[in-house]
Amino acid sequence: MKRKLLYILACPIDKYHPLDLYEFAASNDVIQHGLLVCPKCMRYYPIIDEIPRMLPDEMRHDKEDIEFLQKWKKSIPEKILKSGKPFHI
Ligand SMILES: [Zn+2]
Repeated sequence: MKRKLLYILACPIDKYHPLDLYEFAASNDVIQHGLLVCPKCMRYYPIIDEIPRMLPDEMRHDKEDIEFLQKWKKSIPEKILKSGKPFHI
């Protein structure tokens, strides 16, 4: 996603803005892989292949989210790994 998209994105659950951004792979203005986190409800939203996955809980799959957390474990803060929503390790 374009970095400047961060200025308009809000949490789909509680509409909180701005979201925290963790970058795993990025060039100047595009984030290839990363994580968006809502500091209000502690939900996280993966950015995979430049696409932010801003889905509500009922449309998410625990297996996919856990795999994503495992893959980028070293770049994700402990509090999100252990208590992020909707799924954590
Ligand atoms: Zn939220």
